[in-house]
Order: sequence, then C-alpha cells, then structure tokens
Amino acid sequence: MPVSLETPLDLAVGAKNAGALEKAFGMTTTADLLAHYPRRYANRGELTPILDLPVGETVTIVAEVMSASIRDMRNRRGAMMEVTIGDGIGRMSLTFFGKHRSQLEWREKELRIGRRGVFSGKVGRYKGVTQFAHPQYELFDDELEARTKADTMVTIPIPIYPATAALATWQIQRMVETVLDELGDVPEPLPETLRREEGLLDARTALERIHRPRTRDQIAPAVRTLRMHEALTLQAALLEQRQRVRSLAAVRREAAPGGLLERFDAALPFALTDDQRAVGGTIAADLVAGAPMNRLVQGEVGSGKTLVALRAMLQVAESGGQAALIAPTEVLAAQHLRSITAMLGPQLAPEVMPTLLTGQMGAAARRKAALRVAAGQSLIVVGTHALLGEKTTFADLGLVVVDEQHRFGVEQREALRAKGTSPHALVLTATPIPRTVAMTVFGDLDTSVIRSMPPGRAGIETFVAPLADHPGWFSRVWERAAEEVEQGRQVFAVCAAIDTDKQGAVEQGTVDPGVEVDPGVDDGEAPTGPRWGVVQLLAALAVHPRIGGLRVAGLHGRMPADEKDAVMRSFARGEIDVLVATTVIEVGVDVPNASTMIVHDADRFGVSQLHQLRGRVGRGSVPGLCLLVTEAEQGTTARERVEAVAATLDGFVLAEVDLELRGEGDVLGAQQSGARSSLKLLRVVKDADLITQARGIADEILSADPTLAEHPGLRAAIDRRLSDDDRAALAKN
Ligand code: ADP
Ligand code: MG
Repeated sequence: MPVSLETPLDLAVGAKNAGALEKAFGMTTTADLLAHYPRRYANRGELTPILDLPVGETVTIVAEVMSASIRDMRNRRGAMMEVTIGDGIGRMSLTFFGKHRSQLEWREKELRIGRRGVFSGKVGRYKGVTQFAHPQYELFDDELEARTKADTMVTIPIPIYPATAALATWQIQRMVETVLDELGDVPEPLPETLRREEGLLDARTALERIHRPRTRDQIAPAVRTLRMHEALTLQAALLEQRQRVRSLAAVRREAAPGGLLERFDAALPFALTDDQRAVGGTIAADLVAGAPMNRLVQGEVGSGKTLVALRAMLQVAESGGQAALIAPTEVLAAQHLRSITAMLGPQLAPEVMPTLLTGQMGAAARRKAALRVAAGQSLIVVGTHALLGEKTTFADLGLVVVDEQHRFGVEQREALRAKGTSPHALVLTATPIPRTVAMTVFGDLDTSVIRSMPPGRAGIETFVAPLADHPGWFSRVWERAAEEVEQGRQVFAVCAAIDTDKQGAVEQGTVDPGVEVDPGVDDGEAPTGPRWGVVQLLAALAVHPRIGGLRVAGLHGRMPADEKDAVMRSFARGEIDVLVATTVIEVGVDVPNASTMIVHDADRFGVSQLHQLRGRVGRGSVPGLCLLVTEAEQGTTARERVEAVAATLDGFVLAEVDLELRGEGDVLGAQQSGARSSLKLLRVVKDADLITQARGIADEILSADPTLAEHPGLRAAIDRRLSDDDRAALAKN
C-alpha cells in the first residue's frame, strides 16, 4: 500500500513499532517519523572512543567483536554470555543473560570475532569495566562489504537518530526506510519559483537524502531544503492564525468625548512621550477596528507600558467593557492593582472599581471579588493565571492584557480569548525580543515598540567588579552601597541562590523553575555553585562595619507569599535600606527611591536577566548605580556576558548579544519550545535571514491566496503542524 505523509504509523510500520514511536516521541503519522531527522551521520569506519563513554547514558558506538564466551551462572540458574568489543583504543563488555545456554547460542554464532557493527545501550560500569547489559546491535553485512570492495560502501553515511533506551537508532532507521520505500508523491510546500531560485530540492528527494544519503555531499542540500520548508510553514501558519483572529468580529470600543480616557489624560501630571502617543494611537485604532486586537508591546521597564495598557483599559471601560490584566505572580498582581488604583486617582478609581482576583485570597474576599467581576461592576480586574480558571466569569470581557509574559504561549492566549466574545488582547513585555524571535514566537501578533524613556530620568551607571582581578573590590562595593544609604537611598542586592550551604538551594522561580537561575550559565566555566546565597550575604553584611547597623532584610521564593509581600511593601515604604534577594524581584517591582543594584555572582545570570535587574534602579529622579560582582576570569564567556551588560543600556542590543552568547539552545524558553514553535532544523539566530525571507514569501502567498487553495502542499504542511491541542484552542474562536 502506498504511504502518504498523513498515513497513521500503525498502517505504515505496524502496530508494535507505531506504539514504540508514539511512546518514545509522541509520533502518530509518517510525517512525524520523517521529520525525525538524524542527529548526525556516522561512517562505517568510525571509531568512537569507548574510554569516554558517559555512565548512565544511552549511546551508540561502532566497534568490533574481540571475544565472546558463554558460561553458566555461578549462584543461580541460567547462563550468561560475555562479549568483548573494541574500537581500536578501548574495550568494553556486552553481557547477555538467558535461562539456558541454548538461548544464547545463536548470538554466539552471530557475534563472531572480527565482526563489526553498531552497538547501542546504556553505559554501565561493573568491576571497573565499561559495559552494556543486553545492548541492541546491528552487525555490518561484511559479506556484502567484501563483495563490493568499492570505497563507496564504506563511506555511505549511517544516520544516527535521536533514540531512547527502548528504541535504538537503527530500529528507527529501518522504520524510516520502510516508509520511504512505500512513500508515494509528496506534495510540494515550496512554490516552484522559490525552489528554482534557491536551488532547492523537491520535497521527496529532500526527505530521501536527509534520511539515506548515498554520500555526505547529499546531506547539506537536503537540510537546506527542509529548513526552508520549516521556515515557510511556520511563518505561513502564524500569519494565517493572525489572519484568522483578524477575521473574527470584535466589539468596537469607542472612546467617547468627555469619557473616562479623556478625563484620565487631562489629569495626567505629565505629557505622554512620542512613543507612548504613537503606540497608544495604534491601540486606540485597533480597539475600534471591529476585529480583535492581538498586539505585543515591547518596552523597557519604566517606558510606560502599564500606562499605555491602562489607557486601553479605560477606552474599553467607556462602553462598559471589562479588562483583565494577568501578571506572572501574586506579588506583581498586587503591585499592579496598587499602581493602577493610584494612577486612576480618587475620581476615576471608584468608577471602574479595580479589583484583585488571585488564588491566594481568602475564600470570602475572593467570592466577593468574583461577584463584582461576574456582575460587571468591576471594569478592571487584576490577577494571576487564576483568572484563566473556569470559575471566573466576566459580564463583558473586552480586553485581556498579559504582562511580562513572553512565557505565555498561544494556547494560554487562546484560552483567555475563549472567555469573552473575541476580546482584544495586549501582551506587554519588558524583555526586548530580537526581531526574528518575535517573528517566530509571536508571529501571530502585531508588534509595537516603545523605545524612548520618559524624560527626567537620572540614568544608570554600570560597573563590573571583577574579583578575579581585584579581590579587594568586594568591600569597596559595599562601602559604595553604604554611601548611597547615607544619602537616604535604598539598595538591592541580588544573589543566585538562597543558601549555598544547602543542596538544591538554588532558587526556583515562582512562575517557571528555569527562570531565576539562568540555564545559560552551564558553560563549564563555573564548576562550583554560586558563592553567595541570600543567607550567606545576610550573615556577612550583619558584621560589616558600615552595613551592620543598617536596616537589612532578605527576600526569596521560599518565603510564604504574605511574608514576601510584607517585605516588599516595607522596602517600598523606605523602611528597609538594603534588600538582599533572589531574582524574585526581577520583574516589575517599582521602588523609585532605590538607587543601587548589586548583583553577586553576576556571571550566573543571563544577559537579559541582568538587564532586567538593572532596570529596577534609576527609575525616578535618583541616579541609578549597578554593580556587577563576578569572579569569572577575563576572556571567559561568563565574563563576556557581564561585560556586555555593563557596555550598553540598550535592551535590544543586549537581547541580540544574549542570543549569540547562549547559542541556539534555549532562546525560546521551555514553554515556547512546545508544540507551536518546535523548531527542528531552524535556528532563530543563525537562520534570521531565512526566517525573514520566509515571512515575506508567506505574506505574499497568503495575500494572493488566503485559503491556500492554489498551494495544497503548503496547506497540508500547515495543517500537519497544528497539534490536536492547538486545533482545540483554535476551534474555540
Ligand atoms: P512600565 O510598565 O513600562 O515599566 P510604567 O507604565 O509603569 O512603565 O511607567 C513607569 C513610571 O513612569 C510610572 O511611575 C509612570 O507614571 C511614569 N511615566 C510613564 N510615562 C511617563 C511620561 N510620559 N512622563 C513622565 N513619567 C511617566
Ligand atoms: Mg509595568
């Protein structure tokens, strides 16, 4: 039976294999299997040093059988076969067990001395010898090799697939070959002209060559072609999603003359910046366009995103529409509520009744808040993800604002959208996102940037305190901090851990466990943990001659929420001079009197994260000072990261630097690398140009052919990449 890309795997490779593929990789169709590209290619002659095999990992090596023997077990029934294999450098042993000798004899015949093959298993160590217990293996067909002496046979690359302990690379290889043998025509996702201009392969050939190249030369063109498939399909899918949202009807939210927005603007004690005015104008137009707004606003901390969002909420409120603001943590939600209430002032606040609704509120308070929301009395509702819960109902949800959430995926946005009749959506982020990442992760959103900062900021100076070169600078840093406090200012000190004496004391994020300690720091340059935990720094400061007498407090994610909130509040009221904290203070915290940010073990943080931390100070009229303390040696990547932050205040420049220094791995974050943006061959840094090109092409195609009726190959590719979950989310529209 000819197989197509949509054929379920059980029909293509049998139920048992299909089950194994689904369990291991979640694959269900042949398209899934064929998109499981080789991780690398081995040669038949390739030797992988057995000596270096990492214990506990599942690996694949090419080796030769050196000896094999079967013996009865000494202490219990059964027999054991031991095979020694070597790679020319090291040796290891394979062990197989059987109830009886006879069960092992066929292996003995197969694993003859001198035979070569690929062996795969979990690396163990027994009595000092590296071993695989019950490994999987496949021997090279030496007869064939002997017959066709040709060199080509030896140089045919062997694809090595991402595999698991249960599913070895050559098992995958065999299934892929089965599918390729039966595969009929593959619809072409790329327009003919593009293929010709770029010299790309047809889809069928590209798949053939990435999975079973005859020579190494065939691999690169196949990868290039499939990378373009990925880029174009992704961009077309995102643009289509954007188009889909735009085609929905949304309630027009007109601002009335003399209404809430006009009164708010009139009472503002300052003029809007040009960027605020421009972005505000765009949003105001979005809100009356009749289709749901779906917009991302990027802007540095303090650039006025909250202000811009609040103005949008007021515009919606004029017609009785409600706005929901989602913050990543309870602390930030509470802070938002306070600052929004303050910005509204005593006149407007009672009219829109800003209401907090979070999971940690007492049952009675919560019920009361929920009632106000359901009845439509409260026009501005602030909360955490709990607002997404099914229990919350709105009378007329007109606008959803998501703050600081590039960790907030399409699915969540869609879930929220489902709560109203296509409400408008505004996503705010203070993390500058490089253009191609924005295009990839937020490709379905329109984007606006607030680049300029409100006037009257005193600015921030950043210094690196390199303890590797100048150990004495640690005390100078703290003397400087003491001077700031003497001038009536406040100091943040950030640590990478809570308690460095305790195992696992590295702070876990309240939102996402990866957030607080940057995963990008694992570059082998800092084999030990961070030097300073909150606990250790508090202890050191207590006996410091100039700090010991000051009001110092600690703050970290293991403290109960109300305690954290209390500490934050008293810091905000100026009752604490020095706040020693983990990155729980990273996002959104606003204390204008704080002048100084000291980051210990600064090399432990990512570039963007350091930039975010620095954004906590220099926010008011008080000049900011940021001291990045590091023990990283000059010339290391860790040190480079820290120096880069000190070198510029431009978050967009730093975002690019961050991408480059981190490499490819984690730019999208754990959540974003989920179904919608799962990139296989595409790399947002390296392939920035390709992504931009693909977006242009996708745009052209979709403008001329919105339903892709003329582009069935692309249509099919897009439909395939939408997982079932996504479909469910989209269906809610
Ligand atoms: P963001 O949400 O981007 O961090 P906010 O909207 O919270 O920024 O604004 C930061 C601070 O700057 C707030 O205190 C706000 O009142 C103030 N602010 C915003 N826009 C202006 C402006 N145009 N002129 C002066 N101050 C402003
Ligand atoms: Mg804000």
